[in-house]
Amino acid sequence: MKHYNSHLPNLPWTHLVWSKNSIPQLSFTLWVAIQQKLPTLNRRCTTHVNATLCTLCNSQLQNHNHLFFECDYTEPLWTFLQARCGFHIKPSSWPYLINWASQHWRSNSGFYNSSTSKLALAALVYNIWMERNRRIFQRKYLSQNSLLHQTMDMIRLKFISTTLTDSPTVRRIIEEWDLPSSVIRPPAKLPDRK
Ligand SMILES: [Zn+2]
Repeated sequence: MKHYNSHLPNLPWTHLVWSKNSIPQLSFTLWVAIQQKLPTLNRRCTTHVNATLCTLCNSQLQNHNHLFFECDYTEPLWTFLQARCGFHIKPSSWPYLINWASQHWRSNSGFYNSSTSKLALAALVYNIWMERNRRIFQRKYLSQNSLLHQTMDMIRLKFISTTLTDSPTVRRIIEEWDLPSSVIRPPAKLPDRK
C-alpha cells in the first residue's frame, strides 16, 4: 500500500483513508470526498435548473453533505452499516465525521472497531458516488437494498482475500459478515521436538 500513499500529505485523517485493509479504488474516492472535491453538479454551475437536484432523492439540492449524510436514500445505508460495525453517530458533515472517526478509529482501538469501520466507510462512499454517476450517465437505478448488498459484498470480498489471525475479534467478524472460516490463518506449526 505504501506506493499508493507515500506522496500524500500526512493529514490527521490520512489513516482513515489509507490503511492495511484499504482498497485503492475506494480510498481514492474517499480521499476526494473528504475534501469535498467530487464534481457534484452544484460545483459545475450548470445552467440546467433541475440538474442541481440530488439524483438519489430528486428533492434536495445536491452537494457533498446532502449526498452522503442528509439524503433519504443514503441515510438508511449509514444506519445499517454502522450497526454492523458497532458504532452509532449521526454525521452531519464531512468535518464532523472525520473529526469523530479520527479520534475513535485509531489502530489501537481494536481491529474490529477501526479497520472494519474504515473499510465500510470507503465502500459506502464509493458505492453512493457510483450510484449517483450511474443514474446521471447510464440512466440506471439501484434500489437501496441492492446498493447495500453491493457494498457489503465489497467488504466481504476484501476480508475473504485476506488471511486473518484467529482471535475472538476475528471470530466475531466472521460471524457478523458471514465469512467462510477459511479466512483464518492456520496456527504456525511448531518445529518437531526431537
Ligand atoms: Zn438526495
